[in-house]
Parts: sequence; C-alpha cells; structure tokens
Amino acid sequence: MAKDIWAPDAGTRETGTLRHAATTAAAALLSVALALPAHAQGKVAVVRDAEIETLLKDYATPVLKAAGLKTSRVQIVLVNNPSFNAFVDGQRMFINTGALSASTVPNEIIGVIAHEAGHLAGGHQQRLREQIATARTLAIVGGLLGVGAIAAGSIAGSSGGTQAGAALITATPSLVQRNLLSYRRSEEMNADQAAARFLNATGQSMQGMLTTFERFSQSLSLSGVQVDQYQISHPLPRERIALLEELARKSKYFNSKDPQRLNERHQLMRAKIAAYSGGAAAVVRLFSKDRSSLAARYGDAIATDLSGNSAASLQKLDALIREQPNNPYFHEFRGEVLLKLRKTDEAIKAFARAVKLDRSKSALIRARLGFALMASGKPGNMNRAIEELRVAIQAEPDNFTAYRNLSQAYGQAGDIANAELVMAEGNFQAGNTRDAKAFAARALQKMPKGSPGAIRANDILTIGN
Ligand SMILES: [Zn+2]
Repeated sequence: MAKDIWAPDAGTRETGTLRHAATTAAAALLSVALALPAHAQGKVAVVRDAEIETLLKDYATPVLKAAGLKTSRVQIVLVNNPSFNAFVDGQRMFINTGALSASTVPNEIIGVIAHEAGHLAGGHQQRLREQIATARTLAIVGGLLGVGAIAAGSIAGSSGGTQAGAALITATPSLVQRNLLSYRRSEEMNADQAAARFLNATGQSMQGMLTTFERFSQSLSLSGVQVDQYQISHPLPRERIALLEELARKSKYFNSKDPQRLNERHQLMRAKIAAYSGGAAAVVRLFSKDRSSLAARYGDAIATDLSGNSAASLQKLDALIREQPNNPYFHEFRGEVLLKLRKTDEAIKAFARAVKLDRSKSALIRARLGFALMASGKPGNMNRAIEELRVAIQAEPDNFTAYRNLSQAYGQAGDIANAELVMAEGNFQAGNTRDAKAFAARALQKMPKGSPGAIRANDILTIGN
C-alpha cells in the first residue's frame, strides 16, 4: 500500500516549488504539503478533492453551527495519511484519510468532528499551546536551577548538594508532564460533553462516536505496544468511555440513523480513498460484501484508470453516469480520464458539466475546467481558460498549479507580459521571492507604464527591498 499514489503523475507539489512554467496533467486529487506550527510536527501531506471536501463540509456545518462557531471561519483540511487521526489547530480541523476509510458510516466521522468542534469551541488547543509554552519555560527554569545547584554543590565540595541538583533536573520535566496530562484529560472529557450537546442539538446519534472511541480503547489494551497518534492526542481512559456511553444512551437520538443519501456519498468517498491508496485490490477488500454497489463500481472505475487503463475506466464511468447523471464528481473524474485519453474537447464538456452540477462551487473543478480549455491549445478557448483559472485563483490563492496553467493560457494567447506576471504572483504566493522578482522584472519591461499590471509587477519587485 503506497501512500503517495494520490497524485501519480502531476499536481503533486509542495508549497514553495512553483518555479518553472512546466506542463502538467494534474490528477483529480492535488497533493500539497502544508507547514504547521508547533505540535503537528512540521509538515503534513494535505490532499485536495472537491468531492471529499464537500462531504466533510456537509457533515461539519450543522455541528459547527450548534457549537456557535462561524462555519466560514473553520477550515477542514484533508490529510493524506492512512492512520486514524483528527486534530485542530487554531481555526483549522485536520482529518486523516485513514479516519475516513475506517469510519463505516457517516455518524462515526460526524462524532469525531463533533468532538474536535468541542475542542475548537472550548478554545482548548489555544490554551494547550499556552500551557506548553509555560511548561517549556518551567522546564528551562528548573534546568537552570538544577545546574546552579550542581555547581553550588561541587564548589562547596558537598555530595549532598550535587544530588539535590540532579534531582531537580529530572524532577522538573516529569512534574510538568503530569500537570499537562491531567489538564489534557479534563479537556478531553470536556470536548466529549460538548460533542454530546452538538449532536443532540442536530438530532444525531452519539453511537458513531462511541464506536470510534471504543475501537481505540480496545486496540490500545489488546496490542499493548501499538501506539496510534490519535491515542496520544486523545487519551482514552476507561472513565472517559464510561462517560461517553452514559451520554450516548441518555440521548433520545441514540437509535437515529444517517440519511440514506449521506451514507451513499460516504461509501463513494471511501471507495475513492481506497482506489487511490491501495488500487483495485483495496476497493475489493472494502466492498467484499457488496461488490456490485455503486461505491464499489466507482472505486473500480478510478482504480482502473490509475492502473493505466483509461479506456476501460471511461466505459465504467459512462455506466455510472447513466445511473446518476447529476453526480458532479462522476463527470469531474470522467474529465480527468478524457484528458489522459487526449480527448480534450470532450474533457472540457465533462468539466463544464461538473462545474454546473457542483452546488458547492468548488474552485478545484473550475481550475480543472480552465486547465482543459488551456490544454486544448485552441485560440478561441483561451479567454475562457483565463477566466476560469482567474476565478479559481481568486477563491484559492494557494492553488499553485492554477497559476502555472493560467500563465500557460496567457502564453498561448500571445500575452507574454501577463504570462510572466502570473508566474511572478504564483512564486510570490509560494514564498519563492527570488523567482517572483525575476518574473516581475521581465513582466515590467513588457507592460505599458502605469498600467495595473506594471504597478503589480513593481510592487512584487520592491517588496522586502
Ligand atoms: Zn480530543
């Protein structure tokens, strides 16, 4: 099981690598790396996908509203990682693809979202960060005290003084850790209680949340050695499970089930993740009980394309579309397959259909429509390509592939000045200041004096000077 199959041929990029105007045929899932502060340990591999992002938004929106959180301010970020994990950082909620595959029904992942919303609403992570900052300071102070005591002890030639110093050094960090852990436990119970409130307010069961957390407490006690990230970030003592169970059974919604349509979308999402992370075999494993289901066939169509057989994949997708003609993501993936088959005109139609059907108005699909228009190489398509890509970039200024494609569209339209200005913008956004300035300098030479483009190029040239 390779975890880097998300974007096999292109679209795979890390923040800060937009340098050259290279041609790419990006996959539906864009892989990017996101720099994270503090506890998330450097970088996490983030994946973008319109279908999954929209579904998670639909899961989260009612819960976030019940939590009194502004839904537009909370960003849900999909992490390309097969292990089960979810965590919050400021206004962002990170969910691993592994957590999505492991959740057999929507309610299980909605429970996780409700718990994380409890952390967000309680401002826990913020306070936790402050606690860690204080803890570090304490540890350093303690360490200095210890060193001072050792020095004092050795100067005095007293062995007792030396021992006291050593004890101080070791005692201080563990004391801090103990305080942090007990603090953590109360935050977890607090988030569980908040989650119970949010789920009740939205008329949803806590059964899924209970299932998820029981699964973890069991795997922890059974394996003994296997330590999962989620268990570290969400300690699960027996008392916590007991509280959850009590809260869950008290709710009048305990036996409420997810709407059928939502469950179907959940299975389509799991099929897609399985296809990207483990190919056809993973899809078969996941749907061994129902290999003819819509989700199983969707996963099979995706896996077929990823294994290199785009023609066969196209036939499978056409069959799915006959069944669900209004599913935007079937059309979106069909567009990707058609691009691989070099049927650009048909790909444009498929993406345009997807854009029209996509009620969430995902900028990702707009960007792919723009790319297909640009890739057609037809002069008559360039204005539309530029427009679509501009809309996509305006919505998501960190879509670096879209800058490259927009630059290519300008290039094909014969507008070299704007092609270079867009590369300057993209590199600037990606943090490649040197490349940004080089492109801006070239663009400036070709732009009419005082034009908006010239002013922007000049801005980029003079920033940080
Ligand atoms: Zn938690």
